[in-house]
Amino acid sequence: MPDIRAGETVVDLQPASDATLCFIGRIRTPWRDREDCPRQGRQDGPVCQLELDRLWEPALKGIEEYETLEILYWLDRSRRDLVTQSPKSDGRTFGTFALRSPVRPNPIGTSMVRLIARRGNVLEVRGLDCLDGTPLIDVKPDRCAFSPKAPTKPGLEDT
Ligand code: SAM
Repeated sequence: MPDIRAGETVVDLQPASDATLCFIGRIRTPWRDREDCPRQGRQDGPVCQLELDRLWEPALKGIEEYETLEILYWLDRSRRDLVTQSPKSDGRTFGTFALRSPVRPNPIGTSMVRLIARRGNVLEVRGLDCLDGTPLIDVKPDRCAFSPKAPTKPGLEDT
């Protein structure tokens, strides 16, 4: 693990045993080093590939109807034990949950991406900010593309 910075604090983590993720594929990007990676993706950024495992190809049926997708991925090369962090660019110290840093107990990254094309089990997208080979957790249509269902009973509006 790299050294921690002034103001940073660490907790002892128990081995995780309460949830198991199933990676659905890998993300192919031009970035091999963290220093080259953008802090956040841009919709005019380079085209990247979401390579889903073949068994998930049928799960993409209908995806072409959406221009914007929400992507969840596992920032697998992050440490996970910092409670407070001092971002290099800032000089101040923040709580982990007050940052979008990749360093967090469950290193899930999210990006809104633009769908460029689909080739079978591969989606070409723009708007990512992760290292080449980052495990893919989920792909969802842009939430704004859905009309919420009318609630069936008073009081259940948020269920
Ligand atoms: N857009 C996502 C979010 O907001 O949840 C991730 C933002 S995070 C600030 C993006 C940074 O995470 C990149 O600039 C890079 O330094 C780092 N990163 C990218 N891929 C990673 C990986 N697979 N493991 C660890 N760190 C990664």
